[in-house]
Amino acid sequence: MESCIFCKIANKEIPSKVIYEDEKCLVFLDISPATKGHVLIIPKNHYADLFEIEESELFYLMGIAQKISQRLKDRLGFEGLNVVQNNGSIAGQTVFHYHIHLIPRYKDDQQKINWNPTNPSAEELDLLWQQLK
Ligand code: AMP
Ligand code: ZN
Repeated sequence: MESCIFCKIANKEIPSKVIYEDEKCLVFLDISPATKGHVLIIPKNHYADLFEIEESELFYLMGIAQKISQRLKDRLGFEGLNVVQNNGSIAGQTVFHYHIHLIPRYKDDQQKINWNPTNPSAEELDLLWQQLK
């Protein structure tokens, strides 16, 4: 993917602040962090999103996410952590190379990553349940 910015980061064609690298993946600082320690985990292979990524690569990245989360916790001492992964522009994806956000959360960090809860009727929930189970 010649025009993909995260492929360019993976290939070292453009600089990034890498905190972990192995043969399959790269972890680097987000350039516009939500909080201190916000990092991105990417596979070196190009997959646009969750629907494209190979299952084995996905499992591997989640293992890395756990290890890096522990490192961030040990070194930054945050109080909580959001693991965010957007698929599609409507879901907030802006870079179409699969990536996992690790976003440390601190008291009074003023960030808002949660959704507004809705209140579907019992019938709506039942219909949905029938559709999805
Ligand atoms: P998303 O909105 O889930 O696609 O997230 C894309 C993320 O990539 C955003 O948080 C951006 O700040 C980050 N980003 C974009 N370009 C770069 C870059 N060159 N280096 C580091 N992070 C980047
Ligand atoms: Zn890419």
